[in-house]
Amino acid sequence: MNMINLRPRADAFSSAPTNYRNYVDGAFVDGGTEWIDVSNPATGTLLGRIPDSDASVVDAAVAAARRAQPAWEKLPAIERANYLRKISAKIREHRLELADIIIREQGKVRGLAQVEVDFTADYIDYMAEWARRIEGEVLTSDRPNETMLLLRKPVGVVAGILPWNFPFFLIARKMAPALVTGNTIVIKPSEETPINAYVFAELLAETDLPAGVFNLVGGHGRVSGEALASHPGIDLITFTGSVATGSHIMQLAGKNLTKVNLELGGKAPAIVLADADLDLAAKAIFDSRVINTGQVCNCAERVYVERSVHDALVAKLKVHFEATRYGDPSVEADLHMGPLVNKAGLDKVAHAVETARSQGATVLLGGKIADKGQGLHYEPTIITGATAEMDIMKRETFGPVLPIQAVDSLDEAIALANDSDYGLTSSIYTSNLNAAMRASRELKFGETYINRENFEAMQGFHAGRRKSGIGGADGKHGLYEFTVTHAVYIQS
Ligand code: NAD
Repeated sequence: MNMINLRPRADAFSSAPTNYRNYVDGAFVDGGTEWIDVSNPATGTLLGRIPDSDASVVDAAVAAARRAQPAWEKLPAIERANYLRKISAKIREHRLELADIIIREQGKVRGLAQVEVDFTADYIDYMAEWARRIEGEVLTSDRPNETMLLLRKPVGVVAGILPWNFPFFLIARKMAPALVTGNTIVIKPSEETPINAYVFAELLAETDLPAGVFNLVGGHGRVSGEALASHPGIDLITFTGSVATGSHIMQLAGKNLTKVNLELGGKAPAIVLADADLDLAAKAIFDSRVINTGQVCNCAERVYVERSVHDALVAKLKVHFEATRYGDPSVEADLHMGPLVNKAGLDKVAHAVETARSQGATVLLGGKIADKGQGLHYEPTIITGATAEMDIMKRETFGPVLPIQAVDSLDEAIALANDSDYGLTSSIYTSNLNAAMRASRELKFGETYINRENFEAMQGFHAGRRKSGIGGADGKHGLYEFTVTHAVYIQS
């Protein structure tokens, strides 16, 4: 293995692009002969290269994680938590530099990139706090002189396969609950946005975390991702990404009967009733639709508004959308949106709008690729006259496009919202408590937001129904996804 000494540099992107190395068994190592270029989606500038790792590197990473796991599990949980706190401290020390990397490789606006970095450090600390609260159960036996225990133990070795839209936070969402519960982990970042993960590994390497507990292997999904998902040495695959890839990973995992945790796409409905505070609803839906340039699994992707307030809501939304500031976040401050992450994402958004137009919807605002040089920008877009049959109301758009459908009642809105392949998040705007409570009873989604934008809390449970996923993340229930139970019967 080829050891090199890499340090993140604040000026990393103004000097010659860096070739990053995988982090396996506590050392920085090569990943085969191929490299993947990583560019800034706002400018097309090459930022660096990561290894397009082959299966042998994945094998080495899994073997390292397996070797490290028994000793890691034996440590008291509070000691594992102390290592996590050292990692979160490193993140805080480098918070500006890490945000800068996310801005440049993902196109996130500065404010949100900083929120992502700071939230990640807080999330790691939050998971560390669980160390003294991981609990089993004492059960009542049917036999005399018997004590029954239900122990809670780590799964073993976890594979974390990440998307590009919150690339840095997703490292923590996989790593922190895995490590505090006694697992070791191999992370594969998205090939679109891997540099933040490589710099994270460099920071983590400065702590005294035992070798093999955290490993990082980069590359294309078809090679390193598949090698991980089909590896018999993996005990849990926790994947965040698209439905198609999630389904494929589940098939690969099926060969070894490996447990999967899948956080997949969404098509979040926002229901606006006639009694809603329309200013609040318009602002919250706008924020939810343009955050991260519309590339969030729980963004408001479709609106159902009661007909009597349809025009008023649309007028208010239009004011917000017209005032959207978007551009290159690496040089412009105070933007709502950056570029789409890649050309395929931009083309997908453009195609979705063209399809909506051809299926009879009205493009009220925007509706085309923005004229902004090399940047992959799409105009903030409002679509009215949408109907349930249109693709724009069914498929995840993942861009700044808001389709709106008028409805006649809460019943109709709930029925349309539920009639979806996706079941991740939903929202309702109303001043009627009964309507809000009815919606939270009848909406078949993992989350419902009432009179606020969609954004989950670390102590909640982020879990999708239907094709939005299996299992969930965050809070106590997310933590326990990384554990197995072990029933013990004691005759004494
Ligand atoms: P993606 O499925 O294209 O890629 C995700 C990861 O899977 C990447 O690391 C990729 O390299 C890897 N991969 C691709 N093909 C693979 C294969 N054949 N085998 C193994 N791994 C493979 O998803 P994306 O475009 O990076 O992310 C966007 C999607 O993620 C959206 O659908 C979004 O809704 C979803 N998402 C969901 C959540 C959630 O919490 N539910 C959060 C963020 C993003």
